[in-house]
Formats: sequence, structure tokens, C-alpha cells
Amino acid sequence: MTMITSSLPAEALHHAAALLQQRRRPLLISHPRPDGDTIGCALALRLALLQMGKIPSLACVHPIPENIAYLPGAETYVSDVPDDADIDLVIAVDMSDLSRTGGIYKDSWRGTLPLLVIDHHATNDAFGDVNLVDPDAAATALPLAALIDALGLPLTGDMATCLLAAVLTDTRGLRTSNTTPEVLRFVGQLIEAGGDYAGVMENTLDSVPYRQMRGWAVALNRLQLDGELAWATFPLAEKIALGIEDHDDLDLGNLLSRVAEAKVMATFLEMRDGTVKVSLRSRPGYNVAWIAKALAGGGHHQAAGCSVTGDLDAAQARVLPLAREELAKRLQKSHAMPD
Ligand code: 5GP
Ligand code: MN
Repeated sequence: MTMITSSLPAEALHHAAALLQQRRRPLLISHPRPDGDTIGCALALRLALLQMGKIPSLACVHPIPENIAYLPGAETYVSDVPDDADIDLVIAVDMSDLSRTGGIYKDSWRGTLPLLVIDHHATNDAFGDVNLVDPDAAATALPLAALIDALGLPLTGDMATCLLAAVLTDTRGLRTSNTTPEVLRFVGQLIEAGGDYAGVMENTLDSVPYRQMRGWAVALNRLQLDGELAWATFPLAEKIALGIEDHDDLDLGNLLSRVAEAKVMATFLEMRDGTVKVSLRSRPGYNVAWIAKALAGGGHHQAAGCSVTGDLDAAQARVLPLAREELAKRLQKSHAMPD
């Protein structure tokens, strides 16, 4: 089957495929607080590598959320890898910079082990030796599918299910503005290949653990709206009361992204280590990636995040003025060029 895929530099695709063919024991890394894209893609690539007779391994510093842990191979994730692990290639999946490996990537690997990056973040800083990055793609699943296709490997039903989990979560169920006809055709191809669309919708997108929903109640109770800016804070004490761990961000960013009156949304989760995890969302036409990047994070125009040191008040004092700046920019633009 020929995959319909986004515009990727043919050279990067060729280099990435050659690297996978040459190496035998690749380590695939998913980012912290893993989502469906980083997990689904790593699992699909693991299956592709197994088909090639390779010995892939998977690592993620945090546990796999319950609503993606049922995907084939998720049980093989480990939370750390020793410096001297028996690996000969490192693959960073769905992350924009090296810090997003969450410490799994070891300094001693630099220059000795090749690093392949497969990603779609606008803020990606090309930190790999080979960078398969398509900032126009709705999910990392698209450049990854192009790579699997370039390798000439058949797409099995299990691989397609993993890729469906990736693309359906990153597009919030095909609702984001980057859900192009190409994405819809891609989803169609994955279903034709035997991917379990209904299962992913049911088990992943429509499955919210009870504890998480109780967390939403707390966050929604604390929801604020000021003009076109919506935000909510989540104090550590509330997390402790509900038994919510730090690696669980309750998917609050996506919950708040739906506030009708808001163009920019922010959530602030207080962590046990004295930092605050910030999730930013925006409506099309507004860009929050630069805000996250300015605070040492990253992401996409419409969905970005960062971690800042200090308490909830300090985090709001840093982030909310930048969010208002973004809203003001658009206001100025619309005065200049009414549309
Ligand atoms: P979320 O708000 O759901 O955690 O993340 C939204 C987007 O921003 C995701 O694409 C995620 O990879 C990216 N992102 C979130 N937090 C960080 C961060 O601390 N650093 C970087 N580089 N990207 C982040
Ligand atoms: Mn992604």
C-alpha cells in the first residue's frame, strides 16, 4: 500500500530508512507525560522494526496512561536505560528538543550512538543526526508512516491501530484545524489496513479515568475567564487529596481548549518539585508556541507547554501577561486589516 503522506524532504526519509536498516538494536524514546502520539508512534515503529528482524526497546520516564496502555507492545516500556545499554541507535519520537527525553538520553551517547528524530513540532530544533520532521503534519504518525512506507514494510492491523491512536489523539478526534483531507485519507488507509478505529475511539478518546474526571471537577471549579483568556489553576493540595501523581496532567489543556469565549487558554498544575506545569492552547489565528518557547518549553501554534519554577501565583504572573500579549497582537492586526 502506498501511504499518502505529507511533504517530507526525500533526503531525510532516505537517511532515516538507511539508519534503521544498518542498525540492529534501536532504543525508542517517548516524551514525559506521554500522549497517544508519542506512544502510538513508538509502538508502530517497534512493530515495523520487529518485522525487519531488529531488536527494538522502548523507554519513557513516566508510566503509560491507562487509556493507551492497551496498545500492543505498551507493556514492554521501561522507565530508564543504563548508560551502557546494549543499543546501537537512539530514536526520539514526537519531541522537539533533547530535554524532552526526560533524562533517558545519556550524555555519553552523544557522538557514539546515532540519534534519529521523528517529529512534527514547529519548535523542533533539529537535535538529531537525522531529523525526520514535518511541522505541517497533524501528528508524528504521518512522517512515521512515510518512513515505514519508504522501508517497503507492509502495514499490519496492529501497526495501523497504533498509528490511529497517534493521529486521533493529536487531532483530538479529528477536530483540530490541521485535520486536512490528507489526514482524513490517512485515517481511511489505516482503517483499510485493519486498524481498529472504533476501538481507539472507545478505549482512548472516550475513556476518562474516574480520578481524572474528579480532577476536571476541581479544575472547572477554578476556571476563570477574562476577555478572551481562560485559565485554571490546580493546587498541589487538591492533587494530593485526589491521589493524582505529577506525571498525570489530567489532559486539562485539551479540556480548557473548548471554552467558547476564549481564544487563548492556560492551565497551571502545581508539582511536588516546586515547579508548575503549564499547558497552553489557542484558537486558530493565535499562536502560543512562542510563549512556551520563551519559557524554555515548546509545542505547536495551537498547543504548547512548559514547566516554570515557583508557585501557582508566580507561574500565572509569568504566563498570563504573555497570553494577553498574544491576544493584543491579533487585536492590532484586525484593526489594521479587517477580515
Ligand atoms: P501539553 O500542554 O498537552 O502538555 O502539550 C502540548 C504540546 O506542547 C505537545 O505537543 C507537547 O509535546 C508540547 N510540550 C508540552 N510541554 C512541553 C515542554 O515542557 N517542553 C517542550 N519542548 N514541549 C512541550
Ligand atoms: Mn504529537
